[in-house]
Amino acid sequence: MESSLLVPEEHVLSTLERDGSRRWMYPRLANGYFWHIRRIVGYALIILFVSLPHIKIAGKPAILLDIAHRRFTLFGFTFLPTDTLLLALLMMTIFLTIFLLTAILGRVWCGWACPQTVYMEFVFRPIERFFDGTKGVGGRPPERTAGMRRTLKYIVYFILSVFLAHTFLAYFVGVERLSRWIQQSPFEHPIPFFIMAGTTVAMMFDFCFFREQLCLIACPYGRFQSVLLDRQSLIVSYDYKRGEPRGHLTKSLPVLSNEKQGDCVDCGACVRTCPTGIDIRKGLQMECIHCTQCIDACDAIMNRLHRPMGLIRYSTQNAIDGRRKSWLRPRLFVYPVLLTVVISAFVITLVNKKSFDVTVLRNFGMPFILAANDEVQNSMRIKLVNRIEKPLAFQLRVADRKDVMLDIKDTQIEVSGGAMVTQPVLITAPAKDFVDGEYDIKLSIQSSDGEERTVSCRLLGPSRPNP
Ligand code: SF4
Ligand code: SF4
Repeated sequence: MESSLLVPEEHVLSTLERDGSRRWMYPRLANGYFWHIRRIVGYALIILFVSLPHIKIAGKPAILLDIAHRRFTLFGFTFLPTDTLLLALLMMTIFLTIFLLTAILGRVWCGWACPQTVYMEFVFRPIERFFDGTKGVGGRPPERTAGMRRTLKYIVYFILSVFLAHTFLAYFVGVERLSRWIQQSPFEHPIPFFIMAGTTVAMMFDFCFFREQLCLIACPYGRFQSVLLDRQSLIVSYDYKRGEPRGHLTKSLPVLSNEKQGDCVDCGACVRTCPTGIDIRKGLQMECIHCTQCIDACDAIMNRLHRPMGLIRYSTQNAIDGRRKSWLRPRLFVYPVLLTVVISAFVITLVNKKSFDVTVLRNFGMPFILAANDEVQNSMRIKLVNRIEKPLAFQLRVADRKDVMLDIKDTQIEVSGGAMVTQPVLITAPAKDFVDGEYDIKLSIQSSDGEERTVSCRLLGPSRPNP
């Protein structure tokens, strides 16, 4: 009897079986033209990823994202939390560059340069194929892989994960601190040890278990592609006009394509090779990371059948649909213009960056005190922010009034690089100078690097001079 329940479509999600269990991906390798180029790019990038924390520019690491101390060093420049505008402009530059790159080249980052793809496809996957073999159905590992081989595989994975965890942490703590941690006993520095152990576990989890799920579930970039791509963006696409109607090769059909049958022989090679398990013949999908493996797989089939290559190829949606091809579109003007504006603003802000910020704040409590000798006292706070890396010393004085006195604990205020200090100061002024209960003065702050700033300060006092 036919079930009245709805039967789920097969593979609603590419990595999910009908019963809801995980469909494990064992993509068959298609080592064609793009794979060879991607492999060279991939290994060059791995060398770069490992080297970047060790490379010094102007005596600083090329990249150091020191979150604990809230310092971000990028290619010789250090940004502090006080550089809010610079950091905002930098983020805008990164986002606009991603928008522009995606509009032109599609998800080139995902398929060619993302560390997840690069390490998975050119380090972990080859190791898996080496230990597990590819003799099973569709290039999968055989049903039963020898226990020893599997154990060895995980030992190698673990060693690599430890190395990757160290590389990853070097971006956040710097190589010097990292090498100190390595040389010390875990009991001396339990927290760094647990951070390291946790990162290693995260690497193992990602590359042994989570894998393509990171791209499909966790990474937001794939979700944005529907708004970042347009019909003129370069994508990996199946030429359905040429390929359909698809059909298996039979003895009765000639090897060369005829009028009735399209060039796709429905061999499934493009699906078997896909690391995210999708069928590119269904059109562009969020799961497609543009790894080009299906292009290589299909080209090999076309070659074997003496048909033109490129049934699956880099193209645009308009080109595939036979519509007008044009690289020019509004976003290709808007993004570069915005990028130019943002980069110019970033450079101007960076060049004119002040070495310190100063803010005068009123202290809590009474607004003023009437002191002896017809004097009024205001309790204020001077907030000094050192915006450069080296320590600075500051001296404070009243710039424009001779009869106003400053009572400050330290005549010289020391502020270390990137830090902030709030110094209380008692300002005493003659009561006769107050008009309508207010008296405006100017404070001058001189830093040890020669920069001087003048800030306004409004003192409060009695509405009328004391009789
Ligand atoms: S569809 Fe092709 S390009 Fe996209 S992820 Fe799968 S194999 Fe890679
Ligand atoms: S590899 Fe090419 S011929 Fe084979 S199913 Fe995919 S598109 Fe069709």
